[in-house]
Amino acid sequence: MADILRFADKWGPAKIIQVYEPTIDLKAVLVIDNIAMGPAIGGIRMAPDVSIEECMRLARSMTLKNAAAGLSHGGGKTVVYADPKMPKREKERLIRALAAALRNFPEYIMGPDMGTDEECMAWIKDEINHSVTGLPAEAGGIPIDQIGATAWGIRHAIEVALPYCRCPVGFGLAQSRVAIQGFGAVGMNAARFLAEQQAVLVGAADSQGSVYDAEGLDVNKLIRLKEAGKSVVEYSGGEKFDRDAIVGFECDIWIPAARPDVVNENNMEQLKAKLVVEGANIPLTEAAEKYLHDKGVLCVPDFIANSGGVICAAMEYRGKIESEALEVIEKKVRNNTRQVLEESRIKNITPRDAALNLAMTRVEKAMSYKRWSIY
Ligand code: NAD
Repeated sequence: MADILRFADKWGPAKIIQVYEPTIDLKAVLVIDNIAMGPAIGGIRMAPDVSIEECMRLARSMTLKNAAAGLSHGGGKTVVYADPKMPKREKERLIRALAAALRNFPEYIMGPDMGTDEECMAWIKDEINHSVTGLPAEAGGIPIDQIGATAWGIRHAIEVALPYCRCPVGFGLAQSRVAIQGFGAVGMNAARFLAEQQAVLVGAADSQGSVYDAEGLDVNKLIRLKEAGKSVVEYSGGEKFDRDAIVGFECDIWIPAARPDVVNENNMEQLKAKLVVEGANIPLTEAAEKYLHDKGVLCVPDFIANSGGVICAAMEYRGKIESEALEVIEKKVRNNTRQVLEESRIKNITPRDAALNLAMTRVEKAMSYKRWSIY
């Protein structure tokens, strides 16, 4: 049996809480990673194959994301070992029981993640009146995916990053060729915001396959297809390929917005873009990111580029409205992207190392103000 303290390093985790209620088959783990900057924000992930290791990694990445975004929040995460597609009544019972078990942890603010949604957050709020983000609009929430909070940040990260990559002087969003892997909440909204700037979407992929057209795909037509529950491969026009072919599409900007580790040692050489802006969490393996950096491909790391969602959640927590949240996302993501890329250029380090320095310096400074740090 491995020791639970095997996860500990100089930043955390501050607490690991096991929730176990055998009568209703509730099995969950909450990891509160670091709360030096404020109460931890982090989603509740429900899947049959979650693990404590995954929960740890995700909680740490929330610490980094919140600190890099300059939010007065730490990082945390909950995993629930269950099938999210279970009957609704059972799911409600499980979520309410989880909420009741965690009611005495005010240093953790819950939110939605894979397998949970705004309805689950409304049940939690009703059950324990705890701080929750990602609520339905009718319960005072901001619909993060509908307004495209994360994609809005990605659009701005791209605009700031373009002058830093190997493009001709003056190359901007208009006429840039974009390929997007994953055409869900993040991918679709990114396509919409970029098309508004006259960028050309040349490639798109979902779990069923990918489509390419050098002349440009019709973004509205693709969105309508997805909203009708269809796949991008049902788009009339363009050339169809298998799902992973999108990695090698000819384009200037490549946006992963699907799964982790999609660019790895096996396919990193195929990537042709000059700029990769990470919409998904950890979409590139460490080796792939390093390889692309050495080849001169600029990669804006996930916890800088995709922080729009958590910034929106923090704004909701403060009672702000949608337009205020979008304004803050734009400002924070632009500033952070610029700061990280400048530091990367000046110190000749990868953007990820620059982003880690930015986030960890803030966390360590906040930790130094804590009472225990003087003993
Ligand atoms: P989503 O479920 O709405 O959409 C995911 C899309 O990816 C779907 O179109 C699906 O068909 C496609 N897909 C799945 N596997 C694929 C594969 N192997 N290749 C190509 N396409 C594939 O999810 P989302 O909310 O858009 O999130 C996408 C990613 O961004 C996830 O990694 C998520 O963790 C991350 N993220 C999301 C937010 C947010 O605000 N929603 C914030 C930060 C990070």
